[in-house]
This record gives sequence, structure tokens and C-alpha cells, in this order.
Amino acid sequence: MSNYNSAAIEEFNGGIWVFCEQRQGKMMPTSFELISEGRKLADELGSKLYGLLLGSNVEGIAKELGGYGADGVYVCDSPLLENYTTDGYTKVICDVIREYKPEAMLIGATNIGRDLGPRCAARLHTGLCADCTHLDIDVPKYKDFLRSASTLAPAMIDSIKEDDRNLKMTRPAFGGHLMATIICPRFRPAMATVRPGVMKKAAFDQAKADACQIIKPNFSLTEADLDTQVVEVVKAAKKMVDLIGADVVVSVGRGISKDVEGGIKLAEELAEVLGGVVGGSRATIDSGWLSADHQVGQTGKTVHPKIYVALGISGAIQHKAGMQDSECIIAVNKNESAPIFEIADYGICGDLFKVTPLLIEAIKTA
Ligand code: FAD
Repeated sequence: MSNYNSAAIEEFNGGIWVFCEQRQGKMMPTSFELISEGRKLADELGSKLYGLLLGSNVEGIAKELGGYGADGVYVCDSPLLENYTTDGYTKVICDVIREYKPEAMLIGATNIGRDLGPRCAARLHTGLCADCTHLDIDVPKYKDFLRSASTLAPAMIDSIKEDDRNLKMTRPAFGGHLMATIICPRFRPAMATVRPGVMKKAAFDQAKADACQIIKPNFSLTEADLDTQVVEVVKAAKKMVDLIGADVVVSVGRGISKDVEGGIKLAEELAEVLGGVVGGSRATIDSGWLSADHQVGQTGKTVHPKIYVALGISGAIQHKAGMQDSECIIAVNKNESAPIFEIADYGICGDLFKVTPLLIEAIKTA
């Protein structure tokens, strides 16, 4: 399928779609976040918003997506879709996209989404912007830019209508030193994977959930289509820290280096009195002080808790990318010029080993 002309692009008017990831029949939080964000985009475009749900016996969890803004949910149900396989999910998704022609497709940048998104985009001959942190709708002002900077034929550029509306996707680039804004004007659907935890979940509305339409598209999937077989699903032995869902995150940085064990213990105590969890900068993960699931930042998790405490963290741009939208940021650092103070609501300049016990004591006695 080629979308490489404006007539073909115009056929892609099937609304905005969100791939709604579920595991073992439980919807992943990123599905609700993307439906909530997709609603805003669809309203701006005057389009419909649909979830795309694959799995086995998953129809029962589909309507919940309506409560966060989906007009309808395409449900592809098959025992062969019970567990995620790249080949099975890719085939079904590409088949239904070819049939129903959505103008845009959003996918959570989870382990599954990062595998699935590029594979589907390649099969559909369209573009994908990976790991987005912001989405918007753009009215094109880029014809002159395309003429000067691209190898597209002039006739092709002229065929772009001034009132074409595109998904505008923003993601960190060059190691997080700049934010790149990307549009996909010539291909449909425009596809994006979006970092979990970045988009805010809307309030749930039961009436909208009840009104949500369930659509069962025709698709075919047989064992012959699957080159892989899931033999067993083994749950992680250790419970991973739930940074994204936490209301309070107390993170430690390289500032704990003079007493790593003591520093982590202080963070744990502070997290406990505040009812939160412990996170860390990449320096603490690279040093082996905390496991990778604790990492906050561009290559870790994106969090926006009610309270984020940064203990001995300098505030590098890649760390800030993962926590700067927190409601209240409290930073403890012995260097008064540390960049973390630029975004902190409360900054304490001092030694974290002296300040943190005082904070714990004050909260306990408050
Ligand atoms: P440092 O920058 O070394 O800061 C330590 C701070 O502790 C200093 O400000 C110091 O003043 C303070 N301090 C020292 N002792 C004390 C004390 N006793 N009391 C109080 N303060 C004290 N980083 C991330 O965090 N997350 C990411 O996802 C991430 N992704 C990256 C991706 C790329 C492509 C690249 C290039 C880098 C990435 N980084 C990431 C690394 C990032 O650039 C920084 O190197 C890292 O965040 C620094 O961690 P830090 O603040 O703990 O350490």
C-alpha cells in the first residue's frame, strides 16, 4: 500500500486510533492516558476517536475506554492473540488499518509498543515518530521548507493543501538537548509511540463508557501466520517499583556517593513517611546502587507526582525531562548553583545527610 499521493491520503479519514495495550486481560495505564490525549486531538480535528484492542476474551474491558473519551473500540478477539507476539499483532493491526484507514495511530512506548509500532509503520509504508512527549495538531506552513530542504518532487509539494491538518509530534533529540517537532505530511496513518506517564488521564465518565460503541472488525489470523509461539509467561520475581503511579517520589543522585547505603536508607525513610516510592538519577543506576526500574528521566521513567524530592541530584536536562512536570519539586543539594534549583518549588541548599533526617523528623512530628 502506498499513501504517496494526496488522493490516497484523503481516504484515511477513519479517525484517530489508539492501540490499547492489555496484559492478561488488564488494561495498561498508558491506554487510558492515550485515549484521554487522543480525545483532545480528535476534538481539534473534528474526528472520531477509537481504541484498538487485541487479545483473547477482552471485550469486557473495552467499554471502560469510552469512559476516558473513546467514541468506539475496535475489538479483535482471538485465542491466538492471548499473548503478545510481534507477527500476530502486526498482521491483525495492519489488516484492520488497511480496511478502516485511520488518519493517526497512537501507541504507548512500552516494551510492546516499541516493538510493535515500527513494525506496523514499515508494513504500512508510513512514518512513525518514536518516544513522543507532546502531541498537537498542526496546520501546515511548511511548503517553503519542503521546497528548500527535501527531495520531494515540486508537483508533490504543490499537491499539499494549505488546510491539511497534521499530527504534530514532539520528542527529545540529540541526547535530550533539544526537542524536535515532527510532522508526517505525506503518509497515513501518521504514527507515534508516546512515553508512558507523560499524558494525563482524564476523569472517568460512566455515561460515556456506557455509550461507547464496540466494533468487531473482520480479520483473519491462523497459526500459519505465527512464526513465534509463547510457551510460558513468567512473572518478574521481584516487584518493580511503581514510579509512574506514585503520588510521591523521593529520588537520590550521585550526591549520596560518600555513603550509598545510608543515602538510600534516608530516601526510603523519607518516602515511607510521605507515602511514596524511591527513584534515582541515571548516575545511581549506572553505578549499580539502584535497579533500572528506579530510573527517572529521558531514558528512564517520566513521572508527574504530587511531590518529587530530589536528593543530591544536579538536575541535568535528561533528568529534568522525566520529572519537571511534577506538581511540587523539593530539591536538596549542597551546590547553590545546581540546575535543579531552577525548577524547584522549594530548594534547600545543604548536605542531604544532614537535611534529610531533619525533614523526616519534621514530617513525623507534624
Ligand atoms: P551529578 O550530576 O553528579 O550530581 C550530583 C549532585 O549531588 C551535584 O549537584 C552535587 O552538588 C550534589 N551533592 C553531592 N554531595 C551532596 C550532598 N552530600 N548533599 C547534597 N547534595 C550533594 N540522567 C538521568 O537522571 N535520567 C535519565 O534518564 C538520563 N538519560 C540520559 C540519556 C542520555 C542520552 C544522556 C547523554 C544522559 C542521560 N542522563 C540521564 C545522565 C545525565 O546527563 C546526568 O549525567 C545525570 O542525571 C547526573 O546524575 P546526578 O544528578 O545524580 O549526578
